[in-house]
Amino acid sequence: MKPANSLLSSYGTTVFEVMSRLAIEHQAINLGQGFPDDRGPDPVLDAASAALYDPPNQYPPMMGVPELRQAVAAHNKRFYGIDVDWKTETMVSTGATEGLAACFLALIEPGDEVVVIEPLYDCYLPMIRRAGGIPKTVRLTPPHWTLDLDALAAAFSDRTKLIVLNNPQNPASKVFTRPELEAIAQLVSRHDAYAVCDEVYEHLAFDGRVHIPLMTLPGMRERCVRIGSAGKTFSLTGWKVGYLTAPEHLLQPISKAHQFLVFTTAPNLQRAVAFGLGQDDGYFDGLRDSMQAKRDRLSTALAGVGLEPAVCQGTYFLFVDAKRFLKPGEDDEGFCRRLVTEAGVAAVPVSAFYQDRATAPTDFIRFCFAKRDAVLDGAVERLARYLG
Ligand code: PMP
Ligand code: GLN
Repeated sequence: MKPANSLLSSYGTTVFEVMSRLAIEHQAINLGQGFPDDRGPDPVLDAASAALYDPPNQYPPMMGVPELRQAVAAHNKRFYGIDVDWKTETMVSTGATEGLAACFLALIEPGDEVVVIEPLYDCYLPMIRRAGGIPKTVRLTPPHWTLDLDALAAAFSDRTKLIVLNNPQNPASKVFTRPELEAIAQLVSRHDAYAVCDEVYEHLAFDGRVHIPLMTLPGMRERCVRIGSAGKTFSLTGWKVGYLTAPEHLLQPISKAHQFLVFTTAPNLQRAVAFGLGQDDGYFDGLRDSMQAKRDRLSTALAGVGLEPAVCQGTYFLFVDAKRFLKPGEDDEGFCRRLVTEAGVAAVPVSAFYQDRATAPTDFIRFCFAKRDAVLDGAVERLARYLG
């Protein structure tokens, strides 16, 4: 029989799915795949439930229900001072993932170069490559995950169509600084490129750090697509409601991809997310503070068992250096498999976030701390017992 598409067939099942399956199989505590284990904010759940019984439940408008698009515009203004015309500059997507795919399909011509920063979220490369883009990777430098600005400049060329910027960054838990963003903005302008900004962790920047959308920098308003996700902002990852903000000249082609990919997203969930985005500051501050407290709880405890955590500036994730626990010849993936099967704790190997695993760092593993305190404590107890 004829083969399926060779590019996608060459990828295995995502590391998140693999680790979550292993966690179920071995009754392990799952600190691998990034999802919170609480049930989400009651007022947002109530709004979804009420909207379900308040028709229509038929196809909503392709660009999203007006109340969510208006809420996305208002959220941009409230948190970042960005003026947005909701009718021409916002679009709802089925999760940030679909929004990203729509951007890549719509903006990339086969042969265009796309600058990406490693370690990176796993859906970028296959989607960019399937769209015909040629990834140009720049690596953050451990252990502080600094951005080498010379290497970044060298990755840009006249063939660069866009850069993908994930800020705050999964899995390095980095929040880009203004000088770094200024350097990126200069390169984007100089090379007449665009930026697809994955900002799903926009409300999870810790220790007083401020999340700065690249879109707010001079010259960037016309060149950036900014993507958010209700999954992260309301701890409801299964809902898959994302939202895009972009100038009309970019959103137009992106909406063409969206119309053929999914066309639309569940209407009651959209209306609940509209409600959620309008909550007062207490909600957003509370989300950040509770995640920061979880980060502190897990990092202190992991350090206590000898798993030294890297600096975590934001997101759901903590990196640890596992070098001293690796057996001869064992890499991060082998160690994660051993932890899930023998210690009963699932984590994710960081080398999975690199295009070329052969040259990727293989000493680091990633834990998700978006879990109840008792779950975090239980995981550390198991690790302490296993690692001695
Ligand atoms: N981008 C990043 C950096 C992520 O970590 C995730 C994972 N949740 C997504 C995008 C996907 O978001 P969504 O679930 O809204 O598709
Ligand atoms: N974003 C989540 C993570 O980094 C996973 C999402 C997924 O499984 N696709 O763990």
